[in-house]
Amino acid sequence: MDRQQEFVLRTIEERDVRFIRLWFTDVLGMMKSVAIAPAELESAFAEGIGFDGSAIEGLTRVYEADMIAKPDPTTFQLLPWRGETQGTARMFCDILTPDGEPSLADSRNVLKRALAKAAEMGFTFYTHPEVEFYLFEQPVSPDKPLIPVDQGGYFDHVARAAGHDFRRAAITMLESMGISVEFSHHEAGPGQNEIDLRYADALTTADNLMTFRTVIKEVAIEHNLFASFMPKPLAQHPGSGMHTHLSLFEGDRNAFHEAGARFELSRTARHFISGILHHSAEITAVTNQYVNSYKRLWGGAEAPSWVSWGHNNRSALVRVPMYKPGKGNSSRIEYRAIDSAANPYLTFALVLTAGLKGIEEQYDLVDPTEDDVAELTDAERNALGFKPLPSSLGNALKIMETSELVAETLGEHVFEYFLRNKRQEWADYRSQVTPFELQRLLNTL
Ligand code: GLN
Ligand code: MG
Ligand code: MG
Ligand code: MG
Repeated sequence: MDRQQEFVLRTIEERDVRFIRLWFTDVLGMMKSVAIAPAELESAFAEGIGFDGSAIEGLTRVYEADMIAKPDPTTFQLLPWRGETQGTARMFCDILTPDGEPSLADSRNVLKRALAKAAEMGFTFYTHPEVEFYLFEQPVSPDKPLIPVDQGGYFDHVARAAGHDFRRAAITMLESMGISVEFSHHEAGPGQNEIDLRYADALTTADNLMTFRTVIKEVAIEHNLFASFMPKPLAQHPGSGMHTHLSLFEGDRNAFHEAGARFELSRTARHFISGILHHSAEITAVTNQYVNSYKRLWGGAEAPSWVSWGHNNRSALVRVPMYKPGKGNSSRIEYRAIDSAANPYLTFALVLTAGLKGIEEQYDLVDPTEDDVAELTDAERNALGFKPLPSSLGNALKIMETSELVAETLGEHVFEYFLRNKRQEWADYRSQVTPFELQRLLNTL
């Protein structure tokens, strides 16, 4: 047993922990959880805990239904909302096949493989997500209009609003679980909030995001509210994006920084941006994985719909945020397509490998633009070379299907499973007759 594992066992005794939840993520980014008793933990560390993977989205083919969840002791945390005594703790797990090999269906493993590739090239990958979400009044039902908790807008200070108490409680809980929050504020939509996590290596960030979503849901329930990470819950208001700031480090030096260069961006950063722009359409089915995701990317509300980059340009797909001269280690770029419902493991793996491809192949970077790309006409965008992002899940899947980069990064199993699952979602959606059509057509045709 290693020291981390011993530490976990000791803490469980000292803190009187009654249940340990083993957490892992299915291919769509949904959290799965199995609780074990403390007495089981030693063998869970040694051999893992067996479970039937066939019922979990994308985890197994039928003929290899047995899977093993092996807890990662470095992710041990008590769950504050389960109370102090007879408490509950959690660890994230790696998924193994019955032979003890890393499962090719495990999202966490997909990201680990991508990070190993970055490490071979000498890089550590850091991410800093800005997570947007809506708060609604309970009860929430798909058949009734959603009622946002307030009528605030961007950065509004809403007097005595439920959102303040909620954000304070949520952030306190996140911090108590070792997840640092950098900013939080009201977002543009009524009841819409944003909470930004401090940057960390991408695996930690992805684990933190899974925890984050759970904490936000739990705290909302405690406040008799409902939190939603749906990409576009209200047609008339902005969707919920998860802009993510990205940087590569070589040791403790930020590889994106070069003093004196334009925007202080190094060649490495420029190639990385180019890689991301070049492959962005191919990875969109994963960064924006639901039919509903494309209702956010329609060409407005500060969500990107065309492939471009710029400094402080909020219509661009990649933005170079304000850099502080002399603060080289804060150099970073922001990728703005991702929404709050994406699987963070697969998303980070793809964004990273797209950028690394740009470095490997030394892709040239096009000029930045300060135009509001959404305000241009199609003809202008064509002339300027701004290609569109996929406009629907169906289009996104067609492009993803042909992508070697995505197939290679996800691995055959996840790639095939993902496509199959999402084609079904698209087919189900296409067969719907929507209120929009009835309102437009019923009385006139
Ligand atoms: N909500 C916007 C989006 O969907 C972002 C708004 C902002 O943070 N500037 O991406
Ligand atoms: Mg922000
Ligand atoms: Mg925002
Ligand atoms: Mg942002």
